[in-house]
Amino acid sequence: MSMPAEEGQLLSMLLSLINAKKTIEIGVYTGYSLLTTALALPKEGQIVAIDIEKSYYEIGLPFIQRAGVENKINFIEGAAIPTLDKMIQEIKEDDLFDFAFVDADKLNYKEYHEHLLKLVKVGGVIAYDNTLWSGSVAVPIDPSDPEEFIEVRNYQVKFNDFLAVDSRIEISQVCIGDGLTICRRII
Ligand code: SAH
Ligand code: CA
Repeated sequence: MSMPAEEGQLLSMLLSLINAKKTIEIGVYTGYSLLTTALALPKEGQIVAIDIEKSYYEIGLPFIQRAGVENKINFIEGAAIPTLDKMIQEIKEDDLFDFAFVDADKLNYKEYHEHLLKLVKVGGVIAYDNTLWSGSVAVPIDPSDPEEFIEVRNYQVKFNDFLAVDSRIEISQVCIGDGLTICRRII
């Protein structure tokens, strides 16, 4: 489930270009994108990393430790929406995030979007992974695909349409990995 290396490079480049210091990751798994992020941030960088299942993160943790970047990571085990709700209640205007990477349960992306627009600053970036869903969003439904795959495909088609006309952001959908939609908050 980890992103491919070329997407990791793009993520890393993006974080450097925007000079990101504070980021959120939703959907950590074994920590490949998280390690990439941690390496791209400056020494004082801070990442809130959320996953419903800590045991996956623990598989990758020794590598994060060997890379010397564990101190940048605040891992929170739990479902993302209640965690984001809590963060929204506690956050102060000056403390908003520079960047968020979303790669958890796909059927909640719209919910994540609404939450993250309250947590990421104007000028900050929210990136959504897997928005091409194996290219299926660009072609008619294949009835031989599994039902859950089609459900996410249909959701992603709607989510992509939604992002395209959301006036709070500007977007670029990049054909890398399984599709990455980069959104910059403009208001
Ligand atoms: N970003 C990782 C891959 C993440 S895979 C990488 O590229 O290296 C998706 C992860 O989302 C899984 O680890 C899964 O446990 C987590 N996840 C699924 N639903 C979730 C939810 N509701 N809240 C938080 N994490 C969730
Ligand atoms: Ca992904």
